[in-house]
Amino acid sequence: VKPCSADEITGQAVLPEGLRKVSMELQSGVISGIREIDTVSEVNRIVFPGFIDLHVHARGYVRPNVSNPEAVAAWEGMNRKETFESAGLAAINGGVTLFLAMPNDPTPPDNEKSYEEKRELAQSCPCPVVVMGAVTRSSEPWADIPYKVYLDPVGSRVSLENWKEFNDVIARYAGCSLFFHAEDPEMIRRQGTGGPRWKTRIPEAEYRAVDRILDCTAKYGFRTHICHVSTKKAVEIVKEYNKTASQRVTTEVTPHHLFFSISQEGVLAASGEPDNDETMFECNPPLRTENDRFFLLDALLRGDVDCLATDHAPHTLEDKRKGAPGMPHLDTVGLFVGWLMNECAFPAERIAQILSEKPAEILKRYLGPTPAGMIRKGFSGSFTILDLDSQSTVTGSEILHRGPLRTKSSWSPFSGITLPGSVYNTVIAGDQYFFDKECVQQERQENSHRDKSRFQ
Ligand SMILES: [Zn+2]
Repeated sequence: VKPCSADEITGQAVLPEGLRKVSMELQSGVISGIREIDTVSEVNRIVFPGFIDLHVHARGYVRPNVSNPEAVAAWEGMNRKETFESAGLAAINGGVTLFLAMPNDPTPPDNEKSYEEKRELAQSCPCPVVVMGAVTRSSEPWADIPYKVYLDPVGSRVSLENWKEFNDVIARYAGCSLFFHAEDPEMIRRQGTGGPRWKTRIPEAEYRAVDRILDCTAKYGFRTHICHVSTKKAVEIVKEYNKTASQRVTTEVTPHHLFFSISQEGVLAASGEPDNDETMFECNPPLRTENDRFFLLDALLRGDVDCLATDHAPHTLEDKRKGAPGMPHLDTVGLFVGWLMNECAFPAERIAQILSEKPAEILKRYLGPTPAGMIRKGFSGSFTILDLDSQSTVTGSEILHRGPLRTKSSWSPFSGITLPGSVYNTVIAGDQYFFDKECVQQERQENSHRDKSRFQ
């Protein structure tokens, strides 16, 4: 996919002061001027500051030593599932202009050398990436970068599997930026393994872990971000903590926890029955009840949850049948936003906060000299432009009338579901990526007779 460069973007855009009809001038990928204009030609298209996804498993792993053929074969297998290149294309297809790459690799980037190797590898991604460092049992911080802490009993090299391990390791990271997977590993293990995750990874495991993380945050002065909150109680605990905190603890929620829920009857989608069976929706933390789902939607809308982040996990259908947790989301971010706006009454201004402004604020120290996350003079010329008149149907491995999903995992939890909206254009520092120019032009002709007075 070859981008074409833009020196001007025109449309109704979400500025810090609200929705405005503007023309934005770009110079060297930076917004050099914004002026208000009287009319825009597109009736229901919105220009957002470029979306930033705080939670992506890109599967871009450093090639292991050639003398170990088994490890090389495993690495090649991983590359068939996703690479930085395919994850980047999926991101752009979904309107995401930058993402934070998770470090749960076979060789985790838990020291300077392995981290720099991974950063090098991330250069192959067509959109900018911030790479996270891994916290492991023996690791120590080596630079001011974001670090991921896994409190999870999964038995991987990055997981801290009991509170003693956690306490020993965490004291070394005083003052660091830490992103937490928060599930009490001891409590989960006591539930026993086997059976669906939503029965063993109980809600208490999440909010008890959050509670302890907040204690450590106060003690060691971390800049704390809690990944994928999934329960009402966890959100309430963080909210209470923030009332008196000197440094605000931030949170994110995933599309799957906002769209799907689970009960004895199985998985329920916001749109009705989902196309896929329960195994496809296994994730950590698991899907929760309809009550939690409604609470999370409301919390995200009113500001008690800070960000939307995908937790994009590019497992293949085969992996999923074997029980791999997580699901791919990057290709469908823009469509999910269409759903939040059309079906859940999220104003465009709130979308810009949860997907651009807040994530940019959290990653601020790691984004380089040009600020991002808002449409303002001097900020990055990255935009996500959504068409809200159209709708998109996900079927199997494609978005109908648009093209294939770009993630190599080739499936979506939204398969069989029609969502309002589509991504018209993703602009990264002045480079425009149209994935479906032909189809958008066709649609534009179809729409040309519609009422255009609404925004003029
Ligand atoms: Zn994750």
